[in-house]
Amino acid sequence: MALSEFELIAHYFEHQRVKRPDVILGIGDDCALLQPPAGQELALTVDTLLEGVHFPIGTKPADIGHKALAASLSDLAAMGAEPAWATLSLALPDPDESWLEPFASGLFALAEQHGVQLVGGDTVRGPLAVTIQAQGTVPAGAALRRGGAMPGDLVFVTGTLGDAGAGLDLVLGRRQAAEETAESLLARLNRPEPRVAEGAALRGIASAAIDISDGLAADLGHIISASGTGATLHLEALPFSSALESLTSEEERFALALGAGDDYELCFTVSQTRRTAVERLFERFACGCRCVGTVEEAPGLHLNHNGTPFSLPAGGYDHFRGQ
Ligand SMILES: [Mg+2]
Repeated sequence: MALSEFELIAHYFEHQRVKRPDVILGIGDDCALLQPPAGQELALTVDTLLEGVHFPIGTKPADIGHKALAASLSDLAAMGAEPAWATLSLALPDPDESWLEPFASGLFALAEQHGVQLVGGDTVRGPLAVTIQAQGTVPAGAALRRGGAMPGDLVFVTGTLGDAGAGLDLVLGRRQAAEETAESLLARLNRPEPRVAEGAALRGIASAAIDISDGLAADLGHIISASGTGATLHLEALPFSSALESLTSEEERFALALGAGDDYELCFTVSQTRRTAVERLFERFACGCRCVGTVEEAPGLHLNHNGTPFSLPAGGYDHFRGQ
């Protein structure tokens, strides 16, 4: 007997290596049954990625699988939560095996890396859209929130910024790059690495945190508005990859870091007394971290470049939106 459309799709999500002991019942019933550990809070997040909006048309299915889960894990990381479970809702124009197989393998490779078990899913026929809900756990009261920044705190970011935005420029034909440079920027666009271990290590240290999905200006903007503070960013301190530096002017890099998004790095604040502790903590993380600004009492986000107020050309933040 031929497999039905839904049996066919289910086939690709049956074979996962992660089998968590806290999954009482996984895929296959009306609900999954999960046993959260005592003394922990559940952290839940959901993200939908639409073709042509959140990833360019033509993105490889393995990259879509990776990125969809990475976006959700990045939200858990920003709260200092440890990822545990995920559910998937998939809208597909056509249940095409040559799409489903690499999509599932991209998704599961990242899930395995973080010990995440897929515990449920749904599929519908429609324009390509991937919705992932991820759940994690965090010790009660210890989650990193957006609203805890205090005037005088330092603003840090992990990794390098702007690479994914430049990668998107390459995909859309707005820039050209040598093969090696293009490869590294496209990897940042298509295969973001959620800073899960870094986020968990910041529990009890960071006063506020967020992941950089919409660009540093917007995401730091969320921290300061939730905290009732302002902040100044020192643009000369922003961390950039050598690939990005080889391809862009300084002003373009600032625009990419502040506005392009998709970096999935963390932005967090810490009191000045913890600066050394943070720098020591990040010695064990390959992505590193950089102090890029300060939290202030006066509201608003202020940009500063080598001691001089700086403003981007009009539209700088939104240049990469609505491709
Ligand atoms: Mg987020």
